[in-house]
Amino acid sequence: MAASTPHPEADTDSVQAGPISLGIDIGGTKIEGVAMDGDKHMLASFRIPTREGNQAVYDDTVTLIRHLLDQLGPNQGTATVGLGIPGRVDANRGIVDDAVNLGIRHMALGPAVARATGLPVRVENDVNIAALGAASQADDTLVAPGTTPHSEAARDQSRRPASEPGRDGPRALPDQDDHVVAFINLGTGLAAGIIREGRIEHGASGAIGEIGHISVDDHQFPCKCGQCGCLETVASGSAAEALWPGIAHPMPDLIAQASQGNQHAQEVQDIIGHGIALAVQIVALTIDPAVIILGGGMSKIGQPLLDLVTEHLNRSAACSHFIASLSLPDRLRLAPADLPIAAIGAALAGRMAADSRPSDFIGKEIAS
Ligand SMILES: [Zn+2]
Repeated sequence: MAASTPHPEADTDSVQAGPISLGIDIGGTKIEGVAMDGDKHMLASFRIPTREGNQAVYDDTVTLIRHLLDQLGPNQGTATVGLGIPGRVDANRGIVDDAVNLGIRHMALGPAVARATGLPVRVENDVNIAALGAASQADDTLVAPGTTPHSEAARDQSRRPASEPGRDGPRALPDQDDHVVAFINLGTGLAAGIIREGRIEHGASGAIGEIGHISVDDHQFPCKCGQCGCLETVASGSAAEALWPGIAHPMPDLIAQASQGNQHAQEVQDIIGHGIALAVQIVALTIDPAVIILGGGMSKIGQPLLDLVTEHLNRSAACSHFIASLSLPDRLRLAPADLPIAAIGAALAGRMAADSRPSDFIGKEIAS
């Protein structure tokens, strides 16, 4: 077990309001857990490095849950557990398939953890829980675009809290008819999570939001899914690594080189900026959400990423009254880099487990 890394927001001394929600984000490099009370206050957090394989992921998840409960002390009352994990997830049955980076081909994770802990467990795809966590954040914790891309105004605004008005904004989030939020995960891959009225949308086969494998890009780079020209090949962390190779975190270097006049860097930056803007347009035109949040590892670039995407959205708007009428930059936000939004989202998703029937947890093999 690794050393405890309490989150700055964590407050183990606070009075616990209502049932406890435990959220565990099982990622490729770390497993991060949070405990929240009924008012969404974070009570405790803990993280450990990820180990691969069914048994290791199961063991570490149960250990982390028990550690969080220990941190809270006695008299915790009722608790629910939400787990977020990459791969294909059957949320109703708690089954995970093809979590390749975790060395899991098939695993009945939800039933196994429910049996070990005696707690109701809900399992969701990692992008979906990050979407739920990001969508739960108030307007003032999400970063809004600068008013003028690549301008001093944009850079000034990045240093102000998003709730504080800038020269021309940031603009308030638009009114929502049915509270639809889209979360575009710019991680190793590209996928979107859709939250409608506080609940994760799953679609018929669980493929909702898999926009990374829409083959639309005219560069026609080969994709690991077998197609060419997938959006993921130009709008993801792996795309940045492929197009600007040789650097561990290519985007900050790419943006810096481009701003210093490096022509090749500008070309690559344009490819990536156009690709992410295309992802935003696809989500906007298919789901029409009031808010589109950029998250995932690439979002840690911060304001320069928002500026880049806004610039490319404005380019599309300049040649299309229709696109201009959608006011996409107004809907764009960046997920906060300093909050474990995926683990928070897992905790919120876990509350749904309290409504699950016991029969949902029949079939209790860890491995298969
Ligand atoms: Zn693909």
